[in-house]
Amino acid sequence: MSFQDVLEEVLADISAYRGQGKVAGYIPALAKVDGQKLGIAAVLSDGRSYAAGDADEAFSIQSLSYVFALALALEHHKSALWNHVGREPAGSPVNSIIQLEMEKGRPRNPLTAAGSLVVCDQLIGRRAPDEALDELLAFLRRCAADEAIAVDETLAMSESHAGALNRSLANFIAAFGNLNNPVEDVLSFYFRQCSIAMTCRQLARAALFLAFDGTDPVSGEAATIPSRSRRINALMLTAGHYDNSGDFAFRVGLPGKSAVSGAILAIAPGHGAVCVWSPGLNAAGTSLAGAVALERLVERTGWSVFV
Ligand code: GLU
Repeated sequence: MSFQDVLEEVLADISAYRGQGKVAGYIPALAKVDGQKLGIAAVLSDGRSYAAGDADEAFSIQSLSYVFALALALEHHKSALWNHVGREPAGSPVNSIIQLEMEKGRPRNPLTAAGSLVVCDQLIGRRAPDEALDELLAFLRRCAADEAIAVDETLAMSESHAGALNRSLANFIAAFGNLNNPVEDVLSFYFRQCSIAMTCRQLARAALFLAFDGTDPVSGEAATIPSRSRRINALMLTAGHYDNSGDFAFRVGLPGKSAVSGAILAIAPGHGAVCVWSPGLNAAGTSLAGAVALERLVERTGWSVFV
């Protein structure tokens, strides 16, 4: 059976889940997305991509951006980044503020909203936020081998208008002295990284380096060194899915990241990268049909980091 057949079978298999779950409602522009959308794409070691369903339709990458921003921030700051953000699973919703108070403004890990705000601040460094955003976009375009990737500015605006909670998180972190840049500069970068529009196919391609120890197997270009790539995967496995990271590791067994737009990125080390998109979310915020699709995919391929 060809890999294309596998993807098509997976989608056919999970058709009963299409449209299930709740489309995120707290960002008005996101709430308008059609909950029936369902797409999956995988890119394997030779760079060939396989796709089924709505895999070539763009959506906002939301917190999938945290992974790429983290990779870049680690290139800039190396292990000094960990002075500002931890590496433990949160076990709480993505934008929980309680933990921040208990941990004195040093977010649990870089894959929560608070953690990503700190990563954004570090990535901006001493530059203008736009310059840092250009670097992130250039990185994504290079990794995805696609120059067309851009920010959906309407969505970014909508996020900013609905951003009271993220604004609170950023101010809270700033109050503990863990932001170097003005809060609004950090938020402007953050809302725009979340509003980058990409397809499943582009995302799977962009994340391929994480399946091959930091180096794009097609171009031979290193996005990061092996140890950093492994650590990013470790964080995705332990903290990539809000309060259901353990359940995702149990069911799928691959490092991954869930986003509120209903996208899930999964890394199969040595094999390839997969992105699935279905906007309906489960109670913890992970794509409901998306997680089932990945479960079916690993059943068929035998992919797991626990072999
Ligand atoms: N922009 C979203 C927020 O901060 C991202 C959340 C997510 O995808 O987990 O609320």
